[in-house]
Amino acid sequence: MTSLTKIWWKSNLPIYNISHSELYSKGITCLLLDVDGTLINRKTNSIPIKVKQWIKKSKEYFSLYLISNNPSEKRISSIGNELGLEYKHKALKPSKKNTLKIIKKLNRDKENIAIVGDRILTDIIVGNRCNIHTILVRKLNKNGLPIRINIILLIERLISFFIV
Ligand SMILES: [Mg+2]
Repeated sequence: MTSLTKIWWKSNLPIYNISHSELYSKGITCLLLDVDGTLINRKTNSIPIKVKQWIKKSKEYFSLYLISNNPSEKRISSIGNELGLEYKHKALKPSKKNTLKIIKKLNRDKENIAIVGDRILTDIIVGNRCNIHTILVRKLNKNGLPIRINIILLIERLISFFIV
């Protein structure tokens, strides 16, 4: 894999199984969170209870910001409002522009920021392009459980080998 697709922490876990204290001990104080697949399955509007609990506890440790490629402001704003988080919809990851804007707004050292997502070609690449840490998590299904076989991710891993 090239540096563009470098995964700083390949968790192999759904986001809600990531340890806040472990992440904090690695120097992270700020998280940019992908929405669809990472916090909630794209085909549902109901945020899993485990995700809600994880976000609630995260607020004790980190500054949080939702960053989604979903073009629907209605969907992303309603998820942001339910979780009590600021958000950016239509973020156009892996384009750097919107992610850099958020990083600037957060006003933290890049060393202390990580992006968390379920996709290599959007979340991981934009994180590397912006020089922040990258965390890959398992995609959630409609019931909020990690999907067992993620075909898209397998294809993305293949493509990653050809990205310079
Ligand atoms: Mg996603």
